[in-house]
Amino acid sequence: MEMLELNIRALSEKFSAGDEKRLVARSEAIRPYYCRMCYSCRGQCPKGMPVQDQLRILAYADFYGDFPLAQRSFAALPKEVRDLRCADCAECSVRCPNGVKVADRLIRAQELLA
Ligand code: SF4
Ligand code: SF4
Repeated sequence: MEMLELNIRALSEKFSAGDEKRLVARSEAIRPYYCRMCYSCRGQCPKGMPVQDQLRILAYADFYGDFPLAQRSFAALPKEVRDLRCADCAECSVRCPNGVKVADRLIRAQELLA
């Protein structure tokens, strides 16, 4: 409800040049961490990691503050995905056009949730 109220308030207030500046700055600050779910990286991992799924699940913990949801969602991934460890790769072959530090974020997801 709190999130809904915030969203409704945002819709009803004027969007200023200052708001735009702050949003652009914030967007840049979170660029390495925040997956935009664009799916451009789909199929790039030779081990079959569904990057966007694991980063979405990590976002439940890191950005929504809902650790139990992140744990449940991670546990629902197929075993072969849950067992992958990005720390075992010498280099990550996944390239994110939006600047997400994919391997770092996946390693965090696995350390936190696996
Ligand atoms: S990691 Fe990057 S390329 Fe992959 S879905 Fe997220 S934003 Fe898109
Ligand atoms: S580090 Fe990159 S290449 Fe290795 S398993 Fe993770 S996503 Fe795949």
